[in-house]
Amino acid sequence: MAKIPEAQNRLFKNIFVCKKCQSKIRADPQKILKGKVKCRKCKKKAFRPLKKK
Ligand SMILES: [Zn+2]
Repeated sequence: MAKIPEAQNRLFKNIFVCKKCQSKIRADPQKILKGKVKCRKCKKKAFRPLKKK
């Protein structure tokens, strides 16, 4: 699965998944932490990193 670790890191780095509707969103982690990012679908601000399950 991890073909190119570096590239994958870059791909996953700024991607978060909405805890509510599971939609992916790319955003600055700092913004996520500060609650500045809203889900486009459900407007929730609960996100988790893409990697964790
Ligand atoms: Zn959502």
